[in-house]
Amino acid sequence: MPVKNRLAEMHDQITEWRRDLHAHPELMYDLPRTSAFVAEKLRAFGCDEVVEGIGRSGVVGVIRGRSDNTGRAVGLRADMDALPVEEASGLPYTSKTPGRMHACGHDGHTAMLLGAAQYLAETRNFDGSAVVIFQPAEEGGAGGKAMVDDGLMDRFGIDEVYGMHNMPGIPVGQFAIRPGPMMAATDDFDITITGIGGHAAKPHKCIDPVLAASHVVIALQSIAARSVDPLKQVVVSVCSFRTESDATNVIPQTVRLRGTVRTMEEDVRDLAETRLKALVENTAAAYGATAAIDYQRGYPVTENDPDRAAFAAEVARAVAGGVEDTAPLMGGEDFSYMLNARPGAYIFLGNGDTAAVHHPAYNFDDAAIPYGCSWFAELVERRLPAA
Ligand SMILES: [Zn+2]
Ligand SMILES: [Zn+2]
Repeated sequence: MPVKNRLAEMHDQITEWRRDLHAHPELMYDLPRTSAFVAEKLRAFGCDEVVEGIGRSGVVGVIRGRSDNTGRAVGLRADMDALPVEEASGLPYTSKTPGRMHACGHDGHTAMLLGAAQYLAETRNFDGSAVVIFQPAEEGGAGGKAMVDDGLMDRFGIDEVYGMHNMPGIPVGQFAIRPGPMMAATDDFDITITGIGGHAAKPHKCIDPVLAASHVVIALQSIAARSVDPLKQVVVSVCSFRTESDATNVIPQTVRLRGTVRTMEEDVRDLAETRLKALVENTAAAYGATAAIDYQRGYPVTENDPDRAAFAAEVARAVAGGVEDTAPLMGGEDFSYMLNARPGAYIFLGNGDTAAVHHPAYNFDDAAIPYGCSWFAELVERRLPAA
């Protein structure tokens, strides 16, 4: 079954919006042009309510169906922020701001949800309310949490919530989803190991933090290899190893190690944190050094409610060529905060054979627009059937 005819008709218009957003990327919560663009369109479509400034710069539109016998509301979410990446796509509508780029396709997500909002406001062929949610700061700023903390779910009476992300490597016109954990919890660590510096030719007069830190890096691999059930997912990556000196004849005073821990279940997340702290403190101590650990919990696991994931897949099957099962990804996603507040599902939309998200040559594929828009719109019509 094809995409919705009306949304196919709107393809060129939605593509224009997408390219306009692409040329004007904004970062984190600082989205004056993007959020004004969204709010202005939602008002022009005739949304019953348009509220700006939720979660600092988020925008919410409410579209009431022809009837409201059940009082139910379905939330649909898109993210609006770009990345601090220098664009190398060579496109005619390339970023007009050096060092900023829509390298994760949030321009496409925003344009598609606007298209669905216009369709829903024109047709209103459902019972209850559709709440379109445009969030800031997905890329590391927890904008989804900011909106939830600002009362998003209660204020608009949202019963369940759905989100979508484009995915390079999946053909355009296809979706992918799974029940349960879909994206990882993302925690970061920043460790300082302190020894006693001195002359490199007199190591016996020093406590060498480089040697201690090297053993820490190796010891941390035992979390995945020996602490966590091998059938469960965990990643521990030390991504930065720095001393305060580049000299070849100085044993430094400190080494700073920074990295990330990714997990799919809360008990594994707890175990990884506990083991990391014990390994760092005790390994440093074994070499006479001390360790200070700053461990920050980031986005929680993005977890699909099994029934809603099955429903989301059924809708995808109705509007597109097919739905693949996907393995969970160890990346993070702050739609997780919305899924922790209300049941729902998060789905991948095929972006074809493009560069990966966050790559300077990435581009959202406009051919995916009718599928994404139709999924949002069909989801509301099926979940809130007209009386
Ligand atoms: Zn991203
Ligand atoms: Zn993204």
